[in-house]
Amino acid sequence: MPDTPNQPVFLADYQPPPFLVESVALTFRLHPTATRVLSEIRFRRNPAASAGHDLRLDGEGLNLISAQIDGTALATRPDATGLTVAAADLPDGPFLWQSEVQIAPEGNTALEGLYMSNGMYCTQCEAEGFRKITYYPDRPDVMAPFRVRIESDLPVLLSNGNPVASGTGWAEWDDPHPKPSYLFALVAGNLVSTADSFTTIEGRNVALNIWVRPGDEGSTAYAMDALKRAMRWDEQVYGRAYDLDIFNIVAVDDFNMGAMENKGLNIFNSRYVLATPETATDADFASIERIIAHEYFHNWTGNRITCRDWFQLSLKEGLTVFRDQQFMGDMRSHAVKRIEDVLTLRARQFREDAGPLAHPVRPESYVEINNFYTATVYEKGAELIRMLRLLVGEDRYSAALDLYFSRHDGQACTIEDWIAVFEEAGGRDLSQFKRWYGQAGTPRVDVTEDWQDGQYTLTLRQHTAPTPGQPLKEPLLIPVAMGLIGQDGREIVPTQVLELDGPTLSVTFDDLPTRPVLSLLRGFSAPVVLHHAQSAKDRAILLAHDTDPFNRFEAGRSLARDMLQAMIVETTTRPDAEFIDALRIVLCDATLDPAFRALALRLPGQDELAAALHEAGHRPDPVAIFEMRQSALKTLAEALKPDLLQVAQMMETPGPFSASANDAGRRALRVQAVALLAQVDGGAAARASFARANTMTEQLGAWTALLDIGAGAQEGAEFYRRWEGDRLVLDKWFAAQIMHALPQNAVALTRTLTCHPRFDWKNPNRFRAVIGALGANAAGFHSPDGAGYHLVADWLLRLDGANPQAAARNSTVFETWRRYDGDRQTLLQAELQRMASHPGLSRDMGEMVGRMLGE
Ligand SMILES: [Zn+2]
Repeated sequence: MPDTPNQPVFLADYQPPPFLVESVALTFRLHPTATRVLSEIRFRRNPAASAGHDLRLDGEGLNLISAQIDGTALATRPDATGLTVAAADLPDGPFLWQSEVQIAPEGNTALEGLYMSNGMYCTQCEAEGFRKITYYPDRPDVMAPFRVRIESDLPVLLSNGNPVASGTGWAEWDDPHPKPSYLFALVAGNLVSTADSFTTIEGRNVALNIWVRPGDEGSTAYAMDALKRAMRWDEQVYGRAYDLDIFNIVAVDDFNMGAMENKGLNIFNSRYVLATPETATDADFASIERIIAHEYFHNWTGNRITCRDWFQLSLKEGLTVFRDQQFMGDMRSHAVKRIEDVLTLRARQFREDAGPLAHPVRPESYVEINNFYTATVYEKGAELIRMLRLLVGEDRYSAALDLYFSRHDGQACTIEDWIAVFEEAGGRDLSQFKRWYGQAGTPRVDVTEDWQDGQYTLTLRQHTAPTPGQPLKEPLLIPVAMGLIGQDGREIVPTQVLELDGPTLSVTFDDLPTRPVLSLLRGFSAPVVLHHAQSAKDRAILLAHDTDPFNRFEAGRSLARDMLQAMIVETTTRPDAEFIDALRIVLCDATLDPAFRALALRLPGQDELAAALHEAGHRPDPVAIFEMRQSALKTLAEALKPDLLQVAQMMETPGPFSASANDAGRRALRVQAVALLAQVDGGAAARASFARANTMTEQLGAWTALLDIGAGAQEGAEFYRRWEGDRLVLDKWFAAQIMHALPQNAVALTRTLTCHPRFDWKNPNRFRAVIGALGANAAGFHSPDGAGYHLVADWLLRLDGANPQAAARNSTVFETWRRYDGDRQTLLQAELQRMASHPGLSRDMGEMVGRMLGE
């Protein structure tokens, strides 16, 4: 059956492919407006499918020149989404499909399929881009070895696998590992490489290359170092070695995603490859390390074992995110990494789960699969694997993974296959746990405590609110790690894991002469929201003494959130002395990791506060949130001024630059202290810091601290003069001034910057740095007159005409529209409706806007 555009695809409708592919040979004659793609595909019938099927090949936007089966020309006419060869016209046995198509990479602004960026050819095929290159059964459960010939006079011609032959104007590549078409890649351009090598634990000598535009080769050292560490780590921790003789990474400026794990030829958004101390922040270095590792890890979790269909996307993404989280914890600090991951999860995934875009980790249906590369599939998917590991234990987790690799290598798998290895190796029934994959929404766990006559009883109740299409929820299996702390700060019950598997659970602890302080959900053992009326005094005890670093952080965070919430709702409260004293203890505790102290010093963000207020039954006013948060920052800075000055001085990092976690943590704490000081010193410390900064972390940190107090114009001009020639730093220049603009200036400034000669809206990074940055300035975006909404909607519609996938991804700025007061809701809804009724709206945007409106 031909796919009908805009019709949903359902998981329940899955059918095995009627034809399998034995081998693929492709020839590319590259030309900007008239590239020819010749394909030779050997098909055979799938014994697992019923007989008598037509041959259906996917293909979009292709100009078909010719097609033959076993050398006989076909008269078949393509339709909008592919072509069909009737069963009656097919030979009985295996057959050879040959075709020639013409495509125009230069005009491909959607950046999907084969396209051009700065004169370089490159591809992006996940999820369904290969059908824009040639006719093919473009689905992940059809895996085949690929042989590729590239003809072009560009100097560097790359594809998947190993290089087999080359000459003037051509090169041939052979990938012996069967792979789905979404992992196909081709790059051709005027590129230079940093070369290195790696010997695997199996003794294979692998050539490593990072390819960049001439002039960028000085910025690849950190990415190369991260790659080698990732390769070693996967051998040591998961027993997985690399399996080709060459591993290529290419940096591309125009890229919709962060990076792509194509077999042997990873393609990266250049912001996740290029870094020097002067141009990249410590956060950039950490992102590069994580994403280089993530894409490399996909070689086993995604490429060798792939997904049966796109509903199983979390099978590869959830697992690979979990693996990159483990890697980063091992490379840096597990405690700090966990806190950062949970902050991201709450900011992105909990927000998604609480709104109209909520969907399960394994969705039941989609219109456009590109709309499901979400925080739920990635980050919540990783949380599910973390829970599985906690439930079966580390050893059995390793045994389950070994079984997964040995049993499923070379296969396209499902969540069921994944759960089955845990049931076998973990020795327990996980049918209830599996509900996490199918049930959307963030569970709420209500906590009640009772202590009398030395007996302490803890009761937990779970509840998940309805989500779109799922009015009724079943109880989940929630692992709750907990411990008890004495009033004197000593731990009296060490960590144990409770399993909340019904609506409620009660546990009792005896012989406790004094009332214990509960430390619940240690290490954030499950992605849930706790409702626990814990006193400020108990939280202060946890902040000072908890043995679990995550909960130590969490205690401070919830104190801050409650305090800010009270300030916003009651408008008279000021930060209390107890909270300030607790913060001072953490700030000045030299035994604590500086990165941890920097995180503890950060107040909850505006969006987190808006979500908390909404949960508590209020209609959040983003401008009031901004003002109260500023006032709290001022009070804190006033109270902590001498300590902040001292810490800023102590956290200097003399000596040569190191991107290590230790130095990065010191810089983070310094920048955090300088930013707080700006609230009370008129920006003096920040100006001094800007003037002598020799890292991007310090320079950008100092400039944004000035922007936060309405200053920084001169520094901004200086920043621009210095970095005008560096496209990645220029993204920071655009984004910082919009994100840190005072709310009343944000929309006008964004409008001005959209007229700046360097605003290239078709470049996804630059679009995000300008239009995305306005969405990240909550009080500015939610300007009461609706000007922010209107501006963003206008630009989303414009981008949709060129790059639907990028437009849809940026549209989630509207997902929280029902949170706000009546006037704002009306304005937000009107913009969503305006977009929905826009003529020619893409399938991508149509689905997103429709879901947000609740249609
Ligand atoms: Zn991935």
